[in-house]
Amino acid sequence: MVKRHRGGPMHELAIAESVVEAILERTEERRVTTVRLAVGRLSGVVPDALEFCFELATSGTPLEGATLEIVSPSGRAHCRSCDREFEKDDLILLCECGSADVEVVAGRELSVTSVEVV
Ligand SMILES: [Zn+2]
Repeated sequence: MVKRHRGGPMHELAIAESVVEAILERTEERRVTTVRLAVGRLSGVVPDALEFCFELATSGTPLEGATLEIVSPSGRAHCRSCDREFEKDDLILLCECGSADVEVVAGRELSVTSVEVV
């Protein structure tokens, strides 16, 4: 998991850099052709911005030119008031019952799901 806050492209750049660093720790000098990421819809990360920053962050590394594939798992939330679990793709965390005592249970993930190397 990556610590997050609301922010502009610098936010995505910091994420892209930490993703690239984490991959390089494992793949070292091998050439990486594809990177797959899961970026939850409630993560606050904009996939387009992340893609752009990934290009910057991989420049001059064995990841340069690698294809970035992003999947965006849906968000899910659980309401503590009525015990209902429901899909949530925005950050307005209000249950249908009117309660705001809602906990996000999925959709905030930001993880590398697979890497292909030559
Ligand atoms: Zn509820």
